[in-house]
Amino acid sequence: MPGTVHVIDHPLVQHKLSLMRSKDTSTSTFRSLLREISMLLGYEVCRDLPTTQVAIETPVAATMAPALDGKKIVLISILRAGTGILDGMLEILPSARVGHIGLYRDPKTLAAVQYFYKVPDNMTERDAIVLDPMLATGNSAVAAVDRIKQDHPRSVKFVCLLTCPEGLAVFHAKHPDVPVFTAAVDECLNDKSYIVPGLGDAGDRLFGTK
Ligand code: URA
Repeated sequence: MPGTVHVIDHPLVQHKLSLMRSKDTSTSTFRSLLREISMLLGYEVCRDLPTTQVAIETPVAATMAPALDGKKIVLISILRAGTGILDGMLEILPSARVGHIGLYRDPKTLAAVQYFYKVPDNMTERDAIVLDPMLATGNSAVAAVDRIKQDHPRSVKFVCLLTCPEGLAVFHAKHPDVPVFTAAVDECLNDKSYIVPGLGDAGDRLFGTK
């Protein structure tokens, strides 16, 4: 399979994910867990951020210490469930800029159609981190990254909570240069395009709409 997939198999991530999978988990708990797990995913996604040495004075002595080198990150949420990951990511990247992309599935062609797109200026100077809890068929992830690449960000990463082999194959066939960060690669997609075993409809569970 082309493309890189980082499975974040930290016990805290896996424990929270198991709680999120349970159909008995309430909307408010699901929402809190997604926020918490997104912080932990964000921690791994940021592992390769470059640092630079800056001069500081502690109460005891002058020293040089590492600081992020000012790379400009833009978090791009795929509406609507991406919002759940965005909240957690912003906890650890409070200065990040935020973009949104809205897509719906055309009922006849099943193609992903864009209905909303808003990102910050100067995308060519930014590193984009695209957020959607479920990388399922891969169609909306491909369409979102297609659109974002038209703005030529310096780099693109994709963060999800769950994915499956089918979705990864579709995504990386089109975007082999975009690494995927996920808490798990599940077994398969079912005939309704749900990830199995998955966690159901992430948007409905996050917003309590079903
Ligand atoms: N989107 C979801 O919310 N859940 C799935 O299982 C697949 C796509």
